[in-house]
Amino acid sequence: MPAGEPGVAGRFDVATPLDGSDPHRMVFVFHAGAACAFLPRELARLHAIGLGLEEEEALAPWGIDAATDGLYAHRVTPREAMWLAADNLNALFWGLHDWTHFHNHGPFEQRAWTELQCDASALAWLWMNREEVGLEPTVWDRLHAQATALSRRRFEDEGLPGAFGVLEAARVRELARAC
Ligand SMILES: [Zn+2]
Repeated sequence: MPAGEPGVAGRFDVATPLDGSDPHRMVFVFHAGAACAFLPRELARLHAIGLGLEEEEALAPWGIDAATDGLYAHRVTPREAMWLAADNLNALFWGLHDWTHFHNHGPFEQRAWTELQCDASALAWLWMNREEVGLEPTVWDRLHAQATALSRRRFEDEGLPGAFGVLEAARVRELARAC
């Protein structure tokens, strides 16, 4: 579906490919009254179209790093501040990936390794919650293969040997079971 077009009302789109492009129709919506005035904000409905959002505010899409720093500095957990709105699988994957960044403040020096842990967390969450999300195991497998390919490319770009055992499907499912 082209960027910015509303999804089919009430239907979660699992067909969106994970190709590394920016996710569309995904936003972190602030809870009413959450103590997070330090975070950059925009109207949620500008970024998550057709999800019934009205006057709710959300983290500005360019503010992911600011949120990772700000939440840590103010000792606010992501869950206290916001919830994730997404109407398609690509958006949900990247939202979960970013959510993991929010929980892991620190120097962003080993990019490929940091991103790998975020990917593993997102895949594990999606496996755990596949029934709620309406994700067939075959769709999860496809997503897993796409995420692994992206991860492999990051390691190649950094000239690092990949250690994709961490991201093997069986290991990710094991991680999900351990939660
Ligand atoms: Zn990331």
